Amino acid sequence: MANQNSTNPSHDLFEQFVQAQTCKEVQRIFSELCHHLQVDPRDYQSFYTKLKERLNYWKAKSLWVKLDKRAQHQDYQQGEVCAKNKCLVLGAGPCGLRTAIELALLGAHVVVLEKRDSFSRNNVLHLWPYTIYDLRGLAAKKFYGKFCTGALDHISIRQLQLILLKVCLLLGVEVQTGVEFKGFVEPSGATGWMAKLFPDNHPAGKFQFDVFISAGGGSFVPYGFKRKELRGKLAIGITCNFLNRHTAAETQVAEISGVARIYNQKFFQDLLTETGIDLENIVYYKDDTHYFVMTAKKKSLLKMGVIKQDFSDADKLLAQVNVDQEALLRYAYDAAQFSTGHCLPDMQFAQNHAGQPDVAMFDFTCMHRAENASLVRERKGKKLLMGLVGDCLVEPFWPLGTGIARGFLAAFDTAWMVRSWGKGRPHMEVLAERESIYQLLSQTTPENTSKKYSAFSIDPATRYQHVNLNSVKAFQVKNINIIYSFY
Ligand code: FAD
Repeated sequence: MANQNSTNPSHDLFEQFVQAQTCKEVQRIFSELCHHLQVDPRDYQSFYTKLKERLNYWKAKSLWVKLDKRAQHQDYQQGEVCAKNKCLVLGAGPCGLRTAIELALLGAHVVVLEKRDSFSRNNVLHLWPYTIYDLRGLAAKKFYGKFCTGALDHISIRQLQLILLKVCLLLGVEVQTGVEFKGFVEPSGATGWMAKLFPDNHPAGKFQFDVFISAGGGSFVPYGFKRKELRGKLAIGITCNFLNRHTAAETQVAEISGVARIYNQKFFQDLLTETGIDLENIVYYKDDTHYFVMTAKKKSLLKMGVIKQDFSDADKLLAQVNVDQEALLRYAYDAAQFSTGHCLPDMQFAQNHAGQPDVAMFDFTCMHRAENASLVRERKGKKLLMGLVGDCLVEPFWPLGTGIARGFLAAFDTAWMVRSWGKGRPHMEVLAERESIYQLLSQTTPENTSKKYSAFSIDPATRYQHVNLNSVKAFQVKNINIIYSFY
């Protein structure tokens, strides 16, 4: 909608871009804005500067101040350090987009591929204090006024994606949606590494790159990487979202930032007595929706008819045919009602991407993490640096809320690796350093990472308290981490 107070069409378009609430809308308005200002986003090296020159009014300026502050950090060497690198990022989830921003600031040509064409996840992510600080530095509040107001420390996945998408576009990152990565096209004599895509005639298929970052989520691990399985005791997670009408009564209801059985046995016993629902833990966040995530005990799911038949195999147990959807909705509804003291008025499920009540059940029994965070492939003398970030590097246990915090740490570490690559450091050293840093990731907590958030940068020494960049030696990655294909 046009801004009634503005008479300048480019200011109107910019305002619409800032406020846009869907992925498609953001892309459409951005393209109109570029057309109107006659700036070409493909001209990625000078795009941001030109955009700034042509949108030189107070509202836009306050955004440029934020982004300039970030861009001027010494790590980026004024965007020259990776000026010759071409990076393909797979996945426009929060971690892919966050990595793309850093790569753009390093001066690289960055293309992001995303198979979906909408951002539809209502589920809410917990943010560690450093991620809030980081996102504020990227002007999150300008794109989403409600961002972490007061003591709030969470955001819905889709809102986070929207913020990061907007920053990516402003920095000259090309974000291609509705296109699926299907594998690599190996270099020939004249061409470098390229991607096999669906649809196969997509123009991004012509992009030649020397860096490939996979941020494809938990189920996407590219060829060459191995995963470790961390099998724990059966853990069944349920997420659900209810409409938030932002009424006074809803505002009164207290959030539950995490109640675990061992800390509040009475709560869980009362829940069981009143409803028959037996949980290990529950979290409730009031965001764009009322969001709940809980870990449910199998016995109570069977008793309440949510799971029809008992199987020892978790895949069979939670297979769609073995789940009574109506019973699952009731279970989630009752748990949400009880845990908010029956104070949420008129609870109605929000809809998911398929237009169905947004309730889902997931298996967290078996979590994965990649054995390595990086590798280099070489073919016909052309090297490709590959890195993993986000859930495809380490799958998070959602109720613990570590996904974004560790995801962004890995995004920064990956950008640091690409920086070393751009500087022309021997690739074995680049890999050894990346693997040294990766060893720290799973142990990170808000307590043992640095509290000097204002000093955080892609340099690992600014974030990890005790970092040894040489704990893995170059000769160690030679054995485990490099696939050479010379022929
Ligand atoms: P994701 O956010 O999963 O993004 C990966 C992206 O890659 C996706 O957009 C996907 O479409 C794209 N992609 C995958 N393969 C390809 C391909 N071949 N070509 C092109 N694109 C591809 N965490 C919580 O803490 N709480 C929750 O309640 C919660 N709910 C979730 C619900 C769902 C359905 C999912 C998938 C994840 C959920 N998570 C939740 C995890 C959380 O979203 C992630 O930790 C966080 O988003 C960071 O993930 P990411 O960017 O690494 O990957």
